[in-house]
Amino acid sequence: MKIIMLGAPGAGKGTQARMMTEKYEIPQISTGDIFRENIRNQTELGKKAKSYIDQGLLVPDELTLDLVLDRLSGEDCKDGYILDGFPRTIPQAEALTAALEEKGEKIDFAIDVEVPDDNIVQRMSGRRVCPKCGATYHIRYNMPEKEGLCDECGTELIQREDDSPKTVQKRLVVYHEQTQPLIDYYRRKGCLYAVDGTRSTDEVFQEICSVFG
Ligand code: ADP
Ligand code: ADP
Ligand code: ZN
Repeated sequence: MKIIMLGAPGAGKGTQARMMTEKYEIPQISTGDIFRENIRNQTELGKKAKSYIDQGLLVPDELTLDLVLDRLSGEDCKDGYILDGFPRTIPQAEALTAALEEKGEKIDFAIDVEVPDDNIVQRMSGRRVCPKCGATYHIRYNMPEKEGLCDECGTELIQREDDSPKTVQKRLVVYHEQTQPLIDYYRRKGCLYAVDGTRSTDEVFQEICSVFG
């Protein structure tokens, strides 16, 4: 099963992808997580990516594509994967389609998690993340068992710098301009499924699972 998670920043892609990895036992590949790991480790890629991420802009395709295509050739991706945060531009989608076609493969499901912009800004201001394992929480909707600490690994949770209201607004503009066109792209390919992302995490998950049948 090869799955793409589409939707605005903060729509709940990562939250759902994480739930799906457990149920379907396929890896979640999050380009945002990969970039943040590179920033933490101060790699060349991390240094380049940081300036874009901090401004709420997309990291250029040439820094993103090889990284993802290389990751997809990993042994653990043999039975499928969930792409969370990639593709985000039409050129990225086209490169992915071409790379898959070369192997006689295709994306099976593109799940669009629909959430209006107003809800997004509210969600993002309460998002807290674990800098160590990447788990995501919300101060109201998805609280950790112990306040401020990751359930999975006990690390102190942080607020992402790019989750400030100003940067979120910028990311939403970038989303509508560069990423939203992917919805039509995958609709034309016949694999687009829209789900209502404003419902509770469990309800959204149920709807996604019902898409897979
Ligand atoms: P969110 O989950 O809030 O949508 P991500 O963690 O997916 O955010 O991404 C954080 C930032 O990393 C993005 O704002 C963007 O700068 C960069 N990024 C992630 N994935 C991509 C991608 N496929 N192409 C370009 N930039 C990306
Ligand atoms: P994305 O990966 O699309 O950027 P996340 O999965 O990180 O989005 O979710 C953004 C924020 O919203 C997080 O704080 C998360 O805990 C919270 N969240 C996710 N799904 C829901 C939901 N269905 N209802 C309320 N809050 C949610
Ligand atoms: Zn953790």
